[in-house]
Amino acid sequence: MVEIKEIKKAPEIEKASIHSHITGLGLDEHGKAIFKADGMVGQEEAREAAGLVVQLVKQGKMAGKGILLVGPSGTGKTALAVAIAKELGEDTPFTAINASELYSTELKKTEVLMQAIRKSIGVRVREKRLVYEGEVKELRIKVAKSRLNPYVQVPREAEITLKTKDDEMKLTAGESIAEQLVRLGVRKGDVIWIDAETGQVVKTGRSKEVAKYDIGGGGVEVPSGPVKKEKELTSTFTLHDLDLNLAARQISFTAIFSLFSEREISDDIRKEVDKLVKDMINKGNAELIPGVLFIDDAHMLDIEAFSFLTKALESELSPILILATNRGMTKIRGTDIESPHGIPLDLLDRLLIIPTKPYNEKEIREIISIRAEELNIELDPQALDELAKIGSQESLRYAVQLLEPANLIAIRNGRNVIKPEDIKEVYRYFADVKRSVNYVKEYENLLLK
Ligand code: ATP
Repeated sequence: MVEIKEIKKAPEIEKASIHSHITGLGLDEHGKAIFKADGMVGQEEAREAAGLVVQLVKQGKMAGKGILLVGPSGTGKTALAVAIAKELGEDTPFTAINASELYSTELKKTEVLMQAIRKSIGVRVREKRLVYEGEVKELRIKVAKSRLNPYVQVPREAEITLKTKDDEMKLTAGESIAEQLVRLGVRKGDVIWIDAETGQVVKTGRSKEVAKYDIGGGGVEVPSGPVKKEKELTSTFTLHDLDLNLAARQISFTAIFSLFSEREISDDIRKEVDKLVKDMINKGNAELIPGVLFIDDAHMLDIEAFSFLTKALESELSPILILATNRGMTKIRGTDIESPHGIPLDLLDRLLIIPTKPYNEKEIREIISIRAEELNIELDPQALDELAKIGSQESLRYAVQLLEPANLIAIRNGRNVIKPEDIKEVYRYFADVKRSVNYVKEYENLLLK
């Protein structure tokens, strides 16, 4: 038997996201950008402009309007959009798509957009539930050795011992609570709430407060004397989650097959979800949180998509729309009409435009150093200089991408600090775009023979 004392908390996975270091716009109380704050570096004017936008949104003055970020690629347009969402509040939904995604699925373009819009509108639900409450004192997962696969984080065959303050109970996976706890990455010291009726884990979190007792619920043996409490719990969903949920419940036998592919959600389902949500809002049990929908490479949207978005901006349920592009005058896709940024004028009229500028070496150095810290990677100062130079000569994204392979090389060489020679080595292994294009050019004759 192998014992795993602690399992990784699920949010760790999110760290891998390339914008996870951004926690806000990094502005002072006068709305001025601090050179390096909240994970953001440089790009001061754009950040200050974004700060004004956040204020307008909070005052409800952005209704029917959107933002257009214009600048060369790698100038932090996505980063800015993420920062705006963070400023709007922790559970503000943020959805990022690339306009080209509209053409890469079997779904209608407007359906893809509609799903993206509904993923960007949050519903915060408050509800009173009868729950068992308890602090996890000790969590042990036992897995049969032959079944232990280091790449599987959630062992189905887990057996969990959950010790509360006064008691101990065994949960066997396959029974829902145990599985849920494993999936949620519950750790020692966590407080968990389990719905007394459904046995569903409704919330987990860290707390210093030691809850008196106890854990139990649906289908699992409940130790004696569990304390049932009525608690107000809040959870945030997006309209799209609710759509999917309702769709899954209404599913017919034949429709089960289409679940495996992307599926269109019917208007009826959306209407029903909207009605449900409105009811909850009227009863004071829910509130809407408009989130941010970020669409990169907006010049790839076509005229149909643009008119859909323009209309969506006017509806009462609309997220904050942030478009980004690096194109100047270009044809609106699907037409022969040239327009600034390939965007129709009636939509452009509604957009506040924020330009972003290329970074200098100092800014690039800081961004790389923040990313390294976020990834728990240590660089010696000269290696950081080397990488910053590469970043300013090639691209910021390329330099950031070299961090993890360089770290591997350092580890292979028995170090936990990246040295300049490690950077030089990965620079040789992985080509930046300029070098890869030149490579093909150089060998064109040979490759084509
Ligand atoms: P764009 O959308 O303009 O192409 P991006 O936001 O997608 O740019 P990347 O080119 O992916 O940015 O940037 C590489 C990395 O640098 C990402 O991790 C991004 O979060 C980070 N980054 C970009 N700009 C900033 C900034 N001003 N401050 C902090 N981090 C930044």
